[in-house]
Amino acid sequence: MRDLVIIGAGPGGLSAAIYAVRYKLDFLIIGKEIGGAINKAQLIENYLGLKPINGKDLVGLFKEQINYFKIKIIEEDVTKIEKIKNYFVVYYESNRIETKNIILAFGLNIRKKIPGEEKFIGKGVSYCVSCDAPLYRNLNVAVIGKNDINLLKKYASRVYSLKNIKEIKGDTVVNKIILEDNKEIKVDGVFLEEKISSQILIKDLKIKLDKNNLVIVDDNFSTNIKGIYCVGDLCSKSIIKQFSVAIGQGAIASYSIYKKIKN
Ligand SMILES: Cc1cc2nc3c(=O)[nH]c(=O)nc-3n(C[C@H](O)[C@H](O)[C@H](O)COP(=O)(O)OP(=O)(O)OC[C@H]3O[C@@H](n4cnc5c(N)ncnc54)[C@H](O)[C@@H]3O)c2cc1C
Repeated sequence: MRDLVIIGAGPGGLSAAIYAVRYKLDFLIIGKEIGGAINKAQLIENYLGLKPINGKDLVGLFKEQINYFKIKIIEEDVTKIEKIKNYFVVYYESNRIETKNIILAFGLNIRKKIPGEEKFIGKGVSYCVSCDAPLYRNLNVAVIGKNDINLLKKYASRVYSLKNIKEIKGDTVVNKIILEDNKEIKVDGVFLEEKISSQILIKDLKIKLDKNNLVIVDDNFSTNIKGIYCVGDLCSKSIIKQFSVAIGQGAIASYSIYKKIKN
């Protein structure tokens, strides 16, 4: 029986893993894509002490640090979590792992439905206004969903709020969108809405969610289910979805588990 299984290898899960090593917890980390959403970031310029850096390059630095701590990441998707009395079973591929604690750090997956969307991620397609709005100073952008239009308006010269984008087009970067009625609008960027996905994993665990389907946690990042913690974009405390926020939360969750085990 492990002390801890961390589900997700984005900033929240990786930070939790580093602290789990420091606190000598017997743990595993399972996450399909090392670095998570950071892989999609064009330019990160808001992390204290880091020079502006491309997302993939930053993930390279994450990997170096993970190797330094000799942490082995299982690069798979968790398919099921089961609660049995006072412990849990985590399933991936054909494996099952018993654990006393779990940190949910699987983030929010992003919808990839509009033709052209995937091709232009980081080249005009963005999911995060607070991250990328400054890149569109004096340019034209389209936005779908609950993104922060007021913030975008402070940077972009024109913001189209739309529901009906049929296709995103461009050459090397986005230069126009096609609407359902075939009308074309010239834009330099498109901000799309995020969508929750791996949440299916926690459907039967009776974990409390807020009105936005985010996991409610206390100050230790514990959910209402004893032994299950949640950090990063998936958790309701992340009122801004930023990796600096996820990193701090991962540290606190591992510390909380260490403190609980020690007592
Ligand atoms: C385009 C873009 C630009 C951004 N720019 C910035 C920026 O400039 N500054 C900033 O601070 N933040 C930025 N962000 C936000 C930042 O990337 C996120 O806040 C941060 O990555 C959240 O970390 P997380 O650990 O919660 O989840 P994620 O990074 O989403 O990681 C989730 C992890 O869980 C794994 N996973 C998912 N489902 C499962 C499953 N079933 N089983 C196992 N593993 C699973 C994934 O493979 C991944 O490893 C940006 C985001 C995007 C998309």
